[in-house]
Amino acid sequence: MNILVINCGSSSLKFQLINADNEKLIAKGLCERIGIEGSRISYTPDGGEKEEKEAPMGSHTDAIRLVLDALTNEKTGVVKSLGEIGAVGHRIVHGGEKFAESTLIDSEVLAAIEACNDLAPLHNPANLIGINACRELMPDTPMAAVFDTAFHQTMPDKAYMYGLPYEYYEKYKIRRYGFHGTSHSYVSKKAAEVLGRKYEDLKIIVCHLGNGASVSAVMNGKCVDTSMGLTPLEGLIMGTRSGDIDPAIIEFIAHKEGKSIDEIMTVLNKKSGVLGLSDNLSSDFRDLEAGYHEGSRRAVNTMETFAYRVAKYIGAYTAAMNGVDVICFTAGVGENSSFIRSMICNHYLGYLGVKLDEAANEKRGEDIAISTADSSTTVMVIPTNEELAIARETYRLVTG
Ligand code: ADP
Repeated sequence: MNILVINCGSSSLKFQLINADNEKLIAKGLCERIGIEGSRISYTPDGGEKEEKEAPMGSHTDAIRLVLDALTNEKTGVVKSLGEIGAVGHRIVHGGEKFAESTLIDSEVLAAIEACNDLAPLHNPANLIGINACRELMPDTPMAAVFDTAFHQTMPDKAYMYGLPYEYYEKYKIRRYGFHGTSHSYVSKKAAEVLGRKYEDLKIIVCHLGNGASVSAVMNGKCVDTSMGLTPLEGLIMGTRSGDIDPAIIEFIAHKEGKSIDEIMTVLNKKSGVLGLSDNLSSDFRDLEAGYHEGSRRAVNTMETFAYRVAKYIGAYTAAMNGVDVICFTAGVGENSSFIRSMICNHYLGYLGVKLDEAANEKRGEDIAISTADSSTTVMVIPTNEELAIARETYRLVTG
């Protein structure tokens, strides 16, 4: 069965068509600037040339219409008709406490996702628009919702409660939810599989280090803690997000700079992280790494601060699980930067008996252990594949 995986943002839409039987990618692409002037679609059939063109997309329905046309038309198509798309899997950012698992979409589920809009005002409404556009164009095709938060719903309350008045939890469900759950789940399971160990017997820490970054503690097959919180702003220092700060800083900046709450939130989400810390050198770790090697003081300090924060979370989650068997690195930075991995492992993880295999650490694109055979804790690189995980979930739900 072919599964169309949709990741719909407010002005963009990423898609992949995946054959769920052999788990091969059939085609993928991206629509950008939806509803804005200069909207464009890029489309790549597997093994074929990438095509990019400007195309008017006033709405997400227009974007999905273009995607379905690219997938089925005579020139670029990879399937003969929409009938060859068996199901659609939608990435949904926030499932609140309602969704501890992926689910097939019906009108009740749609209403429940909408009820979570408050918790993710930038993401969930866009996700819903994507679902509705697909329902309009493919009314008979089953659809599944796969939530970024679901994997973390197994956290115990001591991990998800904040030290705030309890009434805020009761009234508004203010608590830690965590994100990147599909990735943390995929990577931790894959690590156990690659090691030939039982998932349920392992204590695993997953470091998802991309532009957005989070760490999770997965014990005996269940997530027990994660670094992102009510929103994806908490935790690690990210590309442009601050991660953990003293909350009183918000009031301090408001007074000093005369900024509103909304303006400060923009600073914390878009102008902070390694971008802000490097004094606007870059949010891209490739640039920062280059800067580090050239001796730029801001780049050196930014990389060191980033790595230090990751190492502190690894320490915290080792304590939370009373030990750790496997530490996994994944996502853009985690998969590609041997330098950051080496900085984290060699500077800070000696107490866990971590010994890096420097040659293995230089490899790319493989599910691989990068620690030596006599390392007390296994360190791995596992390339994440959120789209495949969504396709698997959708297939499982549809075939019941
Ligand atoms: P997201 O999905 O959160 O947008 P990704 O997981 O795609 O992010 O990661 C993007 C990040 O990965 C960028 O900051 C980029 O700099 C970083 N990255 C990609 N390749 C490399 C590399 N070779 N070395 C260091 N960082 C890299």
